[in-house]
Amino acid sequence: MKTIRRGSKGSEVTLLQKMLNLQADGIFGPLTEEAVREFQQKSRLIVDGIVGPKTWAALGAGGSSSRAVDEIIVHYSATPAGENFTVDQIRRMHLQRGFSDIGYHWYIDLQGEIHAGRSESLAGAHCLGHNTRSIGVCYCGGCPPRSVSGWNSTGLDTRTPAQRDALLRLLRDLRRRYPAATIHGHCEFAAKPCPGFDAAREYADL
Ligand SMILES: [Zn+2]
Repeated sequence: MKTIRRGSKGSEVTLLQKMLNLQADGIFGPLTEEAVREFQQKSRLIVDGIVGPKTWAALGAGGSSSRAVDEIIVHYSATPAGENFTVDQIRRMHLQRGFSDIGYHWYIDLQGEIHAGRSESLAGAHCLGHNTRSIGVCYCGGCPPRSVSGWNSTGLDTRTPAQRDALLRLLRDLRRRYPAATIHGHCEFAAKPCPGFDAAREYADL
């Protein structure tokens, strides 16, 4: 990841702003700098307002990490359509399953907000046999609404327009940072319908 500071512009700034839950306008202004300083203080880093390798790593954006990544795997959260589950709820579910943290590296909620999950520098827990070399991306949804009987026994594409848009932006960014990685759906590697659509085909041109 590029080092960015006050005055920087572009996709790294947008990513940073998302990770800090700021309005993502892609311009590193005074509010972004303030949020970076606050994050650095909380993370016991040098408080200089500059996002370099240590701050990126603390944020969990280890795009330049030593882990070799050659797959980006898309998932749904297997939750009912129309219900928002926060990244913290998903993290709690995964902790209850005995994972050390949320299994995914990125999570897109129902509103299309992109949330950082597990650090990219660490192997995820989202696709058996593929975790050490992949990045796991998940959107909230993937099942019919709760009012449908047996809602949790089927999977389908429940992406909202905002989620589609966010997924596209996130996958573009990941492809740029991991040029060797190919995009897949979980269903290519497991006997389940996740993520409810053909991710390899849909994102073949990214
Ligand atoms: Zn999955």
